[in-house]
Amino acid sequence: MRFKKELENIKTYEAGKPIELIMRDYGIDEKEIVKLASNENPFGASPKVTALIARLAGKIHRYPDDSYYALKTALAEKYKVERENIIIGSGSDQIFEFITHALLDRGDVVLQNKITFAMYAIYSAQSGAVTITTDSERHDLKAFEKLLAKNPKLIYLCTPCNPYGDALDKDDVFAFLDAVSAQTLVAIDAAYMEYASFKNTRKLIEPKELIERFPNAIYTGTFSKAYGLGGMRVGYAIARPDIIEALHKVRAPFNITTLSLAAAVEALGDQAFVRKSAEHNFKEMARYEAFAHEVGVNYEPSYTNFITLLFPEGRSAAEAASALLKRGMIVRDLKSYNLNAIRVTIGLTNENDRFFELFRDYWR
Ligand SMILES: *Cc1c(COP(=O)(O)O)cnc(C)c1O
Repeated sequence: MRFKKELENIKTYEAGKPIELIMRDYGIDEKEIVKLASNENPFGASPKVTALIARLAGKIHRYPDDSYYALKTALAEKYKVERENIIIGSGSDQIFEFITHALLDRGDVVLQNKITFAMYAIYSAQSGAVTITTDSERHDLKAFEKLLAKNPKLIYLCTPCNPYGDALDKDDVFAFLDAVSAQTLVAIDAAYMEYASFKNTRKLIEPKELIERFPNAIYTGTFSKAYGLGGMRVGYAIARPDIIEALHKVRAPFNITTLSLAAAVEALGDQAFVRKSAEHNFKEMARYEAFAHEVGVNYEPSYTNFITLLFPEGRSAAEAASALLKRGMIVRDLKSYNLNAIRVTIGLTNENDRFFELFRDYWR
């Protein structure tokens, strides 16, 4: 079979290893496995959500309300926008897919950071678009500005960014947007915004202010991280209605489930859970920073729920990740980003203790 030529140079996205695989491959008991690999909320979801899901078993033969009225209303209230400013995706990943298919033709240019979320380039390649990247590893808007002359159709800004955890200041993002052509769509991937804005309010980008000032901006958010609903697959985008309408043309109906829809609405209602998660996160993050100093690995100051540990020359991060894996500790090796580093999701206190213990054992 001859598949599309565009697929030839696409590497399949390497997701965080699931717990089931470690049980199978290493014969480790589920209780012994700690997964700090996919930036999931270690508390799980809000207890209000889990209780609701248990009550909804009798509804799963029903398709969801495809207008996602309840969720759009709740998001519109939270962000002080209108329902027509919102589209719902199966994770924010699907939003990037919508953007790609609605916007990009073969040969179009997409501008993104050198090191950033891997899915952007995969989607762009599917459409035959050409991805160009800055040459700075951390987001540097001056480096983006230099490349505006290449006339990108789409720009991805990931703030805070995965996998380094660095975040841009709102004022800098807005100043950059002032320099971008109105014909260029700028996607602001804010998957970790709940964490970043907790740590430093200068990082907070409000979608309302963003789209009022910039008709060519789109803000994406997710329930997978701070809300603890990674397994439910719900994301959203906020933009001017003309953009949202175009994206709806490439969306299949019922793209999230009856349970996901209910879970997301309930999760939005429990902001105390989000605050508690962020507070715990940065308290524990400080322990990781102290630990990094202690053992002598570098790290990137992070505005997210993960920390990226940068290995010194001569020590292999991939080897460390695989040694930890054999002992039931799943972290993310960043080899696929060409980095000698591991990305560790901030876990529960005892999970972090376990990481420190196993890492120390391996390191000496
Ligand atoms: C996790 C993540 C997402 C979104 O994930 P979904 O589960 O598809 O919503 C988007 N961008 C970045 C940078 C992420 O780390």
